[in-house]
Amino acid sequence: SKSSSANDGSAIQVVVRLRPMNEREQRHGTVPVISAKTKEKVVTVVKGKGRKQLKSSYSFDNVFTAFSSQEEVFEETVKPVIADVMRGYESTVFAYGQTGTGKTHTMEGSLERPELYGVIPRSAQAIFECLKQPQYKEHVVKCSYLEIYNEELRDLLVEGKNSHRAKLDIMECKDGGTFCRGLTEMEVRSASDVLRLIQRGQHQRMIGETKMNKASSRSHSLFTIQVDGKISLIDGDGDFDFTGKLHMVDLAGSECAKSAGNDKSAPEAVARERERMNINRSLLTLGRVITILKEKSLHKNVNARIPYRDSKLTRVLQESLGGRCKTVVVATISPSITAIEESVSTLNYAQSACGI
Ligand code: ADP
Ligand code: MG
Repeated sequence: SKSSSANDGSAIQVVVRLRPMNEREQRHGTVPVISAKTKEKVVTVVKGKGRKQLKSSYSFDNVFTAFSSQEEVFEETVKPVIADVMRGYESTVFAYGQTGTGKTHTMEGSLERPELYGVIPRSAQAIFECLKQPQYKEHVVKCSYLEIYNEELRDLLVEGKNSHRAKLDIMECKDGGTFCRGLTEMEVRSASDVLRLIQRGQHQRMIGETKMNKASSRSHSLFTIQVDGKISLIDGDGDFDFTGKLHMVDLAGSECAKSAGNDKSAPEAVARERERMNINRSLLTLGRVITILKEKSLHKNVNARIPYRDSKLTRVLQESLGGRCKTVVVATISPSITAIEESVSTLNYAQSACGI
């Protein structure tokens, strides 16, 4: 079969999540132009009406519909990856899509209602649950929360105004890996500690927004949970130390990468154009990195260079993409005719990450 899933051991999993239609969209017609079938793992787009109707279908490793719960999405995409993290691997989950399609809903969800928890709180719960097992000895769990805006890195766990928060540098280690110098790593002892850190980061993002007049949709945010621990071997043959990491990325809105096409000479427009080009570059680079990794895993294009260095996002995540690391891309879309162009563009992006 041409597609793969987390269960067959494939390193890269691309899934699509279709959200329900909202009230505004329903005013433009309640018939969805995009439909999803979980069983067949297919998304279908219908363009035009009557005899001019054109249907195109896209298949993915998994497809979630408007009825899919937060729990389902987590259990079927991220939960299998956590088992690897708890054995000392690095994994990354991305939410990609147009603003308003459910990236933050998928990654964070509602922090007030446990049934609406997204991937980050659920991952924290799963990690602490796993650590209760008797083979896990002493351990330390740490979190960091990073924002990438205009190719500049900022620490979301440092309190204070944006102007006071230092821009962070990416440094290279001797082994070729990268790290973010000065990034805060907070120790957490429970899933509720993690919830508090998400809230702190959200608050910092909000302060930054009013100050710099930007919307969070134009920056990427990266939440990382790192587990350093000791596992005792089943046959009583001693212990082994491991470090596992789970990165969870809420990407900038994909529509922000597109040119608005209006007057580009006003100072505000110049700044916007720079923002746009940076978002465009980082999303394109991420797509290329994933596509090449996927091709390599299928024994195609084996000698291709992976362009990690072409954006800050892929540079920061360099160590965590490829090799034995697992990657999950959740592409979020709206079913409405009002968003069809963006949705098709998201489906195409996700499809090429699928390596098909
Ligand atoms: P994004 O982060 O991509 O801009 P949000 O996650 O903020 O989008 O979602 C926009 C709105 O749609 C929010 O009010 C969110 O709660 C709602 N929403 C998104 N996805 C879903 C879903 N699968 N089910 C129910 N509501 C959703
Ligand atoms: Mg969002």
